[in-house]
Amino acid sequence: MKSYLEGFYKKSIKERQQLIFGEQLADFKPLLESGGLALPKADRILENVIGIYALPLALAVNFKINNQDQLIPMVLEEPSVVAAASAAAKSSYKNGGFTVKSEKSQTTAQILIKTSDPDNYWKQIMQNRDELLAALAGEDPQLESLGGGVLGLERQPLNWKGHLVVNLMVDCLDAMGANAVNTYGEKLKQLVRGRFPGKPLAAIITNAFPGRTTRARAVFTLKPRAGLSANQIQELFMEIYTWALHDPLRALTNNKGILNGIGAVALACGNDFRATSAAVHYRSFSNSSGLPLAVWEKVGKNKVQGTLSLPLALGSVGGMTNFHPLISKFFKFLNIQKSDSLNAMAACAGLANNFSAIKAIAVEGIQANHMKLHNKKK
Ligand code: NAD
Repeated sequence: MKSYLEGFYKKSIKERQQLIFGEQLADFKPLLESGGLALPKADRILENVIGIYALPLALAVNFKINNQDQLIPMVLEEPSVVAAASAAAKSSYKNGGFTVKSEKSQTTAQILIKTSDPDNYWKQIMQNRDELLAALAGEDPQLESLGGGVLGLERQPLNWKGHLVVNLMVDCLDAMGANAVNTYGEKLKQLVRGRFPGKPLAAIITNAFPGRTTRARAVFTLKPRAGLSANQIQELFMEIYTWALHDPLRALTNNKGILNGIGAVALACGNDFRATSAAVHYRSFSNSSGLPLAVWEKVGKNKVQGTLSLPLALGSVGGMTNFHPLISKFFKFLNIQKSDSLNAMAACAGLANNFSAIKAIAVEGIQANHMKLHNKKK
């Protein structure tokens, strides 16, 4: 579906709905107006439910991802994020849009073992590796029937006397995989219990999502504004970016701007946005090139290229994705079948929001647009 939609923001809600859904609007309308969730269904998602809490669902437009137009759903409470993402995407569109690559869909569980001799314990695990992995098979028959399942074992580097942590990697295909890997992890804990000298204490997913990186890259054109040439804006843009390389207080705020996009996509797609935030913050603290998550470079005199690499594990299945009527219907409508498509949308939205925030801080100040949109509520 076409995503380059000039003046989408100027249209009425009715006109936007008609433009997007066309003949399918009658099917979508009740879900769009109610939020798509009835109380009896809500009662099956959480405990102690007393009502439904609504937030706006919006579309970020103008995104081209790997040569295909892509509308990006976003849900959040902060004005200006959707506008900023759409404006940034517009300035990348004619440069070819976003190029995205995702690593394999690996999710990792960790097993904590108390042992007086961690080296020997690990040696025993390695000697019995094939047998242990074979015994894990069958824990998630559906995942395994689709080609996913256990990938392998690794020892987590750890400076903690008397303890060993084993990482168990699972290919979770299109799922985030938290429940899947916790199931495999618990099983491994059972399998080693009493077998080697030591005590397995716990098994739990790591939200660092090692080995599940998504990388998004795009070139954005800068236009003269506020009495500044494109080249002057490029210089200021690079100053603001470089500030984040030198100052962790700025870097964290820079990364929060990236999360504005990523979290909004995660929420709109029924995914665990807290898990996404944890992974993003982990990457920012373990980033060898510094704290800001995206790397920015000048291209010619009036463009900048951004590259954002981060662990993302959004699921197109699992959690509440298939259960929530609006989300599942919207996934079909947008032809979202794979976890990779969601991770790509989130990474692109994050990079686009980073571009817009740095540019706004560099040129007119962050409050100009923010307050204009904020004031719509008055
Ligand atoms: P899930 O358990 O709801 O479902 C995933 C399952 O769907 C797979 O295990 C598989 O059996 C099946 N499946 C069907 N088609 C598939 C396909 N194409 N690819 C992969 N699997 C397919 O979901 P999950 O992803 O294991 O867990 C996600 C949920 O766990 C989220 O709601 C999250 O909030 C929650 N959670 C998070 C944490 C954490 O992040 N620390 C911890 C526990 C639970």
